[in-house]
Amino acid sequence: MARHASPLQSLLVDDRLDADVYPNEPMARHTTLRIGGPARFYVRAGSISALSAVVALCTEESIPWTVVGRGSNLLVADEGFDGVVISLGRDFRCIQVNEDDYSIVAGGGALLSAVVQETFRRNWQGLEFAVGTPGTVGGALAMNAGTRDQGMGSAVRSVTVMDGRGRLEKLPGSSVQWGYRSSSISGVVVECELQAATCDPFYIRGKMEAALAKRQQTQPLGQMSCGSVFKNPSGASAAQMIEGCGLKGAARGDAQVSDKHANFIVNNGAATAADMAALMRDIQQKVREAYGIELAPEVRFLGF
Ligand SMILES: Cc1cc2nc3c(=O)[nH]c(=O)nc-3n(C[C@H](O)[C@H](O)[C@H](O)COP(=O)(O)OP(=O)(O)OC[C@H]3O[C@@H](n4cnc5c(N)ncnc54)[C@H](O)[C@@H]3O)c2cc1C
Repeated sequence: MARHASPLQSLLVDDRLDADVYPNEPMARHTTLRIGGPARFYVRAGSISALSAVVALCTEESIPWTVVGRGSNLLVADEGFDGVVISLGRDFRCIQVNEDDYSIVAGGGALLSAVVQETFRRNWQGLEFAVGTPGTVGGALAMNAGTRDQGMGSAVRSVTVMDGRGRLEKLPGSSVQWGYRSSSISGVVVECELQAATCDPFYIRGKMEAALAKRQQTQPLGQMSCGSVFKNPSGASAAQMIEGCGLKGAARGDAQVSDKHANFIVNNGAATAADMAALMRDIQQKVREAYGIELAPEVRFLGF
C-alpha cells in the first residue's frame, strides 16, 4: 500500500479483512431498478468482525456509509455515492429453524423469500403477507416491509443491531417502533428471531397462493422496478390517485409509470436516476393539484 494511503484504504486492502471490496462499483449492479452510479467502495462483509471494523472506521473517520440488501427499494443517484456501501455476505445469510417453538433465526443478509419458504414448507403462519416480497431480512426489517395492514414487525421476537461504533445490541421486537414502511431501527440489522405459529395447511397454502397470484396479476414483475414508489396516504391508494390523474404510461426518458400498476415506475432499459426523480416530481405535482395530497416516497434515496 502506498505510503499515503488513508486508514480506510489500508483496512480495505488488508488480507485479514473478511470482506470482498469493490472500488468505484456501479450501484446499478446492486439495485432492482438497475440504476445508480458508482459507490466509492462497495464492501461485502463476510463476518461480524469485518462488518464491525468497517463500520467503526467509517464512523471514526467521518466517512459516509450505508448498508444495503438487494437494492429492491433503492434509488441511487447517477453520480453514485461518495462513501462506503456495505452489504452482508456469508455469515449473515444463515437461516436456522426451531421446530419446537415455531421460530426462525435469520441473518440480516438472508433472503426474505427463503425465510418465507421455510414457513410455507412447514405450514406455519405469520409471514404469509411477505410472500413475493424481494430483498433481504435486514432490508425488510428496516422498511417494515409488508402490506398496507401488516408488516414484518408483527413477526419479530428480537433483532440484533450493530451501531456505528461496531457494537452489537439485541432488542426485543416490542421495543422497536414499527411504522408504515418504516421502523425505528438505526444501525445494521445483523440477525433477527421471527415468531411463526402452526396453522391449517389448506389455509396457509390458500393464502400464499392467492397473494402470489394477485401479485402476478397486478404488478409488472418481469420489468425492472423498485416496487411501490410512493406510500399510500392514510385511507387512500397512491396507485388509484396516479391512475386517476391519467398518468399510467407517462414517461421521462426510459422511466415510465407502469401500465399494469400505476404506483410502479419501470425502467425500460436506459432510465437514469434523474429520469426517475423527474417522473416522481411530475406525479407528485399532478396528484397535489388533483387531490390536494402530497405523496411521500416509499423508495429510499442514496447519493442525492
Ligand atoms: C417487484 C417488487 C415488489 C415489491 N413488493 C413489496 C411489498 O409487497 N411490500 C413491501 O413492503 N415492499 C415491497 N417491495 C420493496 C422492497 O422489496 C422491500 O422494501 C424490501 O424489504 C427491501 O429489501 P432490500 O434488502 O432490497 O433493501 P434495500 O432496498 O437494499 O434497502 C432498503 C432500505 O433498507 C436499509 N437496509 C437494508 N439492509 C439493511 C440492514 N441489514 N440493516 C439495516 N438497514 C438495512 C437500506 O439502508 C435502505 O434504507 C417490492 C419491490 C419490488 C421490486
